[in-house]
Amino acid sequence: FPGMDRISPLDDMIGVGDMVLLDPLSEDSLISNLKERFGHQEIYTYIGSVAISINPYTLLPIYTPEKVEEYRNCNFYELKPHIYAIADEAYRSLRDRDKDQCILITGESGAGKTEEASKLVMSYVAAVCGQRQEVSQVKEQLLQSNPVLEAFGNAKTVRNDNSSRFGKYMDIEFDFKGQPLGGVISNYLLEKSRVVRHVQGERNFHIFYQLLAGGPAKLLNRLKLERNCDRYSYLSAVSENANGIDDAAEFETVQNAMQIIGFTNSEVTSVLETVAVVLKLGNIQLVAESKANGMDACSMAHTAVLGEICELVGLDETILENALCCRTMEMKREKMTMSLNVAQAYYARDALAKNLYNRLFNWLVNRINESIKVKSNERKKVMGVLDIYGFEIFEDNSFEQFIINYCNEKLQQVFIELTLKEEQEEYVREGLEWTPVKYFDNTIICDLIENSKKGILAMLDEECLRPGQVTDSTFLQKLNQVCKNHKHFESQVIQNAKHISDATLPRHCFRLQHYAGKVTYNIDGFVDKNNDLLYRDLSQAMWKANHKLLKSLFPEGDPKKLSLKRPPTAGSQFKTSVVILMKNLHTKNPNYIRCIKPNDKKAPSLFMEPLVRTQVRYLGLMENIRVRRAGYAFRQAYEPCLDRYKMLCKQTWPHWKGKARDGVQMLLTTLGIPKEEYAYGWTKIFIRNPKMLFDLEDKRRR
Ligand code: ATP
Ligand code: MG
Repeated sequence: FPGMDRISPLDDMIGVGDMVLLDPLSEDSLISNLKERFGHQEIYTYIGSVAISINPYTLLPIYTPEKVEEYRNCNFYELKPHIYAIADEAYRSLRDRDKDQCILITGESGAGKTEEASKLVMSYVAAVCGQRQEVSQVKEQLLQSNPVLEAFGNAKTVRNDNSSRFGKYMDIEFDFKGQPLGGVISNYLLEKSRVVRHVQGERNFHIFYQLLAGGPAKLLNRLKLERNCDRYSYLSAVSENANGIDDAAEFETVQNAMQIIGFTNSEVTSVLETVAVVLKLGNIQLVAESKANGMDACSMAHTAVLGEICELVGLDETILENALCCRTMEMKREKMTMSLNVAQAYYARDALAKNLYNRLFNWLVNRINESIKVKSNERKKVMGVLDIYGFEIFEDNSFEQFIINYCNEKLQQVFIELTLKEEQEEYVREGLEWTPVKYFDNTIICDLIENSKKGILAMLDEECLRPGQVTDSTFLQKLNQVCKNHKHFESQVIQNAKHISDATLPRHCFRLQHYAGKVTYNIDGFVDKNNDLLYRDLSQAMWKANHKLLKSLFPEGDPKKLSLKRPPTAGSQFKTSVVILMKNLHTKNPNYIRCIKPNDKKAPSLFMEPLVRTQVRYLGLMENIRVRRAGYAFRQAYEPCLDRYKMLCKQTWPHWKGKARDGVQMLLTTLGIPKEEYAYGWTKIFIRNPKMLFDLEDKRRR
């Protein structure tokens, strides 16, 4: 392959460092290349400028300050593949070529996204940019946002001891010299159901355990909390302390981080009080009571916990008790109070706990943003870093997986648009000789989900807003009607109609053929989760609290602000934020890191081939290589190219009188660069291998 012999550091490597150079190219050869490299602790491999990273599950000696120095200002291909090379490339194009960048990190849970994104990319950028006093404070604040968000937004799951249960996108903003000024964080869909329930072997969000393990005795006394997690029904009954997690030490780290970010002491206290309230809500117990009129009702089994909560937040006990046990219905100026039965009241309690925690999390993100916000109006250069949940296919998939997979479908679309489609279209536009590469365009699936009329999200919203009896089954019926002819949609009703019997697809499920595979969604809870309503009694009760933070989390509880307008559904909120994110990404130059999980045992040096194969498929790596291989790694318009390199050739220096294209041709032929290394487009020169560019740069410097 042209260029192979020119990449000196890649010569003595294990396997092939850039799989564009893989020969022969097949899925098997791709996987064995990854395996061979992984066996020698080479966890990074390129496909052109895309980096593949395989989680080593062990600390490798490749993230030292010396390594940072090595990669800093070295050309992309001159050193072994590394996340630092990607970060460096992105940072330098941002600083020197004034191109906003984004770093898109995808992969399934436990593949290493957060580690790569939040820790390695951010710390690399922090290490290479300025050391001035003001700059270092900004850098510190940006870095310290991680432990805080992780404490509140991450949890131990069966797949990952520190799994991010929210999506995160962070714009880091720089001045024209490339010094960091600040940033903005956006968060997506926290898995708030975890607050009240988690499966065995998993945990609730870290902060609960951290507070109990690491909170000073005085604080716990005041909050009336006990150290023992077993006392709290929202935490595991069995001690699920993940090995390797030191909750007490983490608590220190988080406190410290909050201080550096600029939280005041009283803000930190308020946050911890709110966390305590959530824990205590879980311990509220209810008992059935039958009313004189024969209606079901319930009351507090004991009032101790209720009393503690109300004392913490400055609220009258009867207000909270009533809000938990009754529901006020407003009908045409008339108010009616209805008692809830025990199950309904527990449901209300859990809804309050989830909502409260979710709002606290959003508040934290906003508060951090306030601290890291750029105060000046100067024009900024931006580097976005996206760390978002990967594609999920579980045994039982619900609304959350549907939303997460929708997001991944959109990211795949960006990937297709920006790398595959655009690349090919550009060759055609520029008149280069080009045989199109086949790839799967997932627009059809995105449309099935997000189409504003017939999309699944729109139908779900329509169903949620429809008067009358609305259930998950009526929603499924509607889906069946509207989607029955869609290639990517299946359900049992449709299968029966088509005389296909598939025992694995139960009645209350529908199945989507995503780009990454088939996923069967259980419709139970779709309507409820999309509605995401909190009884007004509860928000009004919270608003009545004296606790400044808590009160501010429930603005709709203010009777003066009483509005009958329904808040947007969970699905439509998510869709809106995804649309904004996609727009944002489209304005930036993308850099991809595709993370792969080598095994499901969290074990070092274990490479499970079938598991990797699945990921290689749904990350579309083969297609990616095919396009890259047929293509050109670098392109530049003729004028700037000639301007930059005309000094290398007598005929073009100092002024070239003809067309820029002819000037570039003169330049390249005079320099004796082999013809197969480049191609002439209508407006741009296309360069196969970036090494050629580096040689030109070297010559310029000499
Ligand atoms: P989730 O989607 O669940 O948040 P994730 O892709 O963010 O998963 P990480 O939390 O980044 O996964 O990684 C899981 C674990 O794997 C980390 O806690 C760490 O122990 C290990 N790990 C990941 N990347 C590396 C690395 N480059 N070096 C060493 N260990 C790593
Ligand atoms: Mg993560």
